[in-house]
Amino acid sequence: MSQGISQSSQLSEEAVKGSIGNSDLISTVNSRLILEAVRTLGPTYRAQIARKTNLNPATVTGIVNELLEREMLLEVPAESEVSGRGRPPQILQINADAKNILAIDIEPDRIRVAVLNLLLEVKEYSERRVDRFSGPKPIWQQILDLCNEVSSGTGITPLQGIGVSLPGLIDVEQGVLLGSTNMPKMVDVPIRELLEKEFTAPVYLERSMHLASLYEAWVRVDGFKGSTMVITHRTGIGMSLMRGGELYLGSRGYDGEIGHTVVDLNGERCECGGRGCLETFVSASAICKRVNQMLAEGRCEAIRRACDGGAELHPELVFRLAKADDADCVEVVREVGRYIGIAVANMMNVLAPDEVLICGSIDVADELVLESVSEQIQQRALPRIRENVVVRLAAAKELSPLYGAAVLVAKRLFELPKLSHAQ
Ligand SMILES: [Zn+2]
Repeated sequence: MSQGISQSSQLSEEAVKGSIGNSDLISTVNSRLILEAVRTLGPTYRAQIARKTNLNPATVTGIVNELLEREMLLEVPAESEVSGRGRPPQILQINADAKNILAIDIEPDRIRVAVLNLLLEVKEYSERRVDRFSGPKPIWQQILDLCNEVSSGTGITPLQGIGVSLPGLIDVEQGVLLGSTNMPKMVDVPIRELLEKEFTAPVYLERSMHLASLYEAWVRVDGFKGSTMVITHRTGIGMSLMRGGELYLGSRGYDGEIGHTVVDLNGERCECGGRGCLETFVSASAICKRVNQMLAEGRCEAIRRACDGGAELHPELVFRLAKADDADCVEVVREVGRYIGIAVANMMNVLAPDEVLICGSIDVADELVLESVSEQIQQRALPRIRENVVVRLAAAKELSPLYGAAVLVAKRLFELPKLSHAQ
């Protein structure tokens, strides 16, 4: 088995150094190399695993047998060969339904909860709007109600773990939400402790914008080595950066507050206490405020009709009507896209990413936003920096942070052991 670890080009020097004489670590590393190979290759043969991991075939066979015994892998007949004569060749796949993951995404004005299997296929899902200005108790009750809802179907046990996507700043070690600009009463909320009272499973937390990136890294199995900027536009707006699948983390993980970069020196007061922040132009409340101004001017007739019919004035209504070509709503969305584009172009001039991905509730008006963002990049990013940059929507759109929360749990089965804030 030690031969396998020394052959692997994916191991960091530290991991190898730390592993000398430590057969448990070597075994863990090789097991995870193989599980990750099966995950990224899809159902596959032992020989393909050996090629992908650079482990020798005997090592692969030994570890695959262990993983079959532990029910982490399944061996099934290869589909295309089933009708042939004799015993069909056996193909290996992840035993995805061996355990469940509970993922919770707390967006300031919406909570989403899902039960997923180990390959992140959603088995149960529920969401509800919440009042982001309410305190921890009512918010917590809503989370528990949603957890009960998703558990009532097929159940959630056996549970591998719980991943939580949070807005604002968090203490990852202590599992505490320290505070969120968009949820002003959610201060020092011991999320991990509260969940541990309800469930017997490890609880992992991370900021929503980081999780959107983590999910992108999870689904990108092509080994992309470039840098990717991910913008999450939901109740507020955040940013994260990854390079070669690794997340950039600022001091204490407090990076990514693009929403509080200033785009208007004399602008309006922001919920953070500053003035002229990007969020005062693109946040959910900024969008509603803009629409209310237009309603007062006798515009946005389609919104008025929808609200008279019982609809709630919310950015998603604006985005949906924009997609249906309502001229006033198109104007609002283009303006939002313009400000996001200005902020993205500024960031591009500093960070020079290869790709810019956008995710959030705004995805329902995706083409409009992408067009406006791209226009600003063309106008404001330096020519050589914007050259060949891909601007597109994130893989799971507005659900990216929820899926990212599930990745927090799943990645512990597949990733090589290492030290990082996001672990
Ligand atoms: Zn601000």
